[in-house]
Amino acid sequence: MSQFAVIGLGRFGTAAALELLRLGHDVIGLDGAAKRVNPLASKLSYAVIADATDEQALREINVTSCDAVLVAIGENLEASILSVLHLKNLGVAEIWVKAASRPHHAILSRLGVSRIIHPEEEMGIRVAQALNYPMVNQYMALGHGQYLVEIELIDRLDGTRLADLLTGCEQIKGFLVKRREAIHSPVPPDFVLQASDTLVLAGPLKLLQRIAPRLV
Ligand code: ATP
Ligand code: ATP
Ligand code: CA
Repeated sequence: MSQFAVIGLGRFGTAAALELLRLGHDVIGLDGAAKRVNPLASKLSYAVIADATDEQALREINVTSCDAVLVAIGENLEASILSVLHLKNLGVAEIWVKAASRPHHAILSRLGVSRIIHPEEEMGIRVAQALNYPMVNQYMALGHGQYLVEIELIDRLDGTRLADLLTGCEQIKGFLVKRREAIHSPVPPDFVLQASDTLVLAGPLKLLQRIAPRLV
């Protein structure tokens, strides 16, 4: 179990805080608005109504003992930056920040925060990917054009050998198959697939795109 603090409990900060709780972590929340803090007060390990630009308020919620702090104040550029500066002064090493604009990103980058998040752009890209490649439930970019993709197999592919599905694209690896409660991994080329298997493949995006028509 880790301890996190979420500064700014709008829709984004609240969703992040609730998911961290669901994953079994300890979460502290801070927001300037009582109406944002109150609905979460019973769920968070500690919830405070305070100004994130007040260094003393940040000190009091014990941000220094957190494994990471998420600053989810989007629109208020000044509050976001001041809050990050205080967290830096207090010695918080892992600071993740939601950015609302290019100038905001540029300043955060100069301040050396660990990760800058652009929810609207990132979600826009994910939705476009899902529209482009609807059989893919989830994907993960591994860098260098390599991806991990999760595919729900359709009935037509019942009884197909993995090698036949991947003909001409042997650089794609069968990473795992989830069949009901069981996980089969790695997946050898002669593995016979069943309808409703969940198949996870790893390989270059170009080849994953080439086999896409075989999956629908
Ligand atoms: P979201 O897009 O996540 O729903 P939002 O658009 O409602 O957020 P933002 O301006 O991004 O609002 O701010 C997120 C939260 O940060 C709000 O709940 C707001 O009350 C809080 N907030 C803004 N400034 C401060 C501050 N100085 N101190 C504490 N909380 C603040
Ligand atoms: P985002 O959160 O994605 O940055 P936003 O908060 O800037 O979006 P929204 O209110 O979500 O703005 O609106 C998104 C876009 O939809 C804007 O570019 C806006 O001009 C456009 N839009 C809003 N209402 C209409 C409408 N009735 N007809 C056409 N476009 C609209
Ligand atoms: Ca917003």
